Amino acid sequence: MCGKLYVVATPIGNLADLSYRAVEILKQVDLIAAEDTRHARMLLQHYGINNRLVSLHQHNEGKVSPGLIDKIKNGLSIALVSDAGTPLLSDPGMPLVKLARQQDVEVSPIPGACALIAALSVSGLPVTQFRYEGFSPRTSSARKVFFSSRKNETVTWVFYESSHRILASLEDLAEIVSSDRQIVLARELTKLHETIVKDSLGRVIEQVKSNIYMRKGEFVVLVEGVVNEKKPAAISEEQKRVLTVLLKACSIKTAVGLATEITGARKKLLYQAALDLSQQAD
Ligand code: SAM
Repeated sequence: MCGKLYVVATPIGNLADLSYRAVEILKQVDLIAAEDTRHARMLLQHYGINNRLVSLHQHNEGKVSPGLIDKIKNGLSIALVSDAGTPLLSDPGMPLVKLARQQDVEVSPIPGACALIAALSVSGLPVTQFRYEGFSPRTSSARKVFFSSRKNETVTWVFYESSHRILASLEDLAEIVSSDRQIVLARELTKLHETIVKDSLGRVIEQVKSNIYMRKGEFVVLVEGVVNEKKPAAISEEQKRVLTVLLKACSIKTAVGLATEITGARKKLLYQAALDLSQQAD
């Protein structure tokens, strides 16, 4: 009989944010594949869980995943955890889950903390659609290219940032988008020094510059999408000239009818323009 793979979300700071079901699953499975076994051990100890751990991280997951899938096919159940939050979201686990799906191994999520979702939920920015980018690039030049390609994005976009780069990253962003753009800085979520700031990019940079604590910890940055104000459709200068001439000799109705035939412009647009021209003439 085939076992099962569980993808288990763990806390992003506050140890109390592990679900009851996650605790049960972590107790019941035969093996826990963890990004860092020492880190996972601390969480397990906190919950009195004494289970077997195996290491699965960015540098070995390609190698160890097939073996873990074989174990599941032989009847074992395995839980996958990362150091914090939801595995696969800027964390290891993709090769394991992909192999499981390819080989018809059952995969079940045990949902819980995720810095991206936690930050979105308190941002006050539109969340119906959003774009998740993972970490921004490490070098300033690569970051500027990254920000440039997103500057006209119309939905909220979100990236993860480290304390070493938060100020440089925001300053690079300010070279690409207007410093009026609304952003949200979500720092140390669920922890003692949780800080959530929503303001213009320029003012957030000032805060980060002037307060050393605003450069410490873990960050999620959310950027408001560009608000596209639809311009009302307009008639061309030539269409307007024809309409103006006709209005001098005919009623609005006749002028609009003739102008539609002559110029091919939409009747509704010509009618609105005729009303505007007549008002101006009055
Ligand atoms: N899988 C995780 C998740 O579900 O959010 C993300 C892992 S990624 C390696 C770690 C990054 O997530 C951090 O560098 C930071 O940008 C963000 N992050 C994690 N915990 C956070 C927290 N408590 N507050 C703010 N950002 C956090």
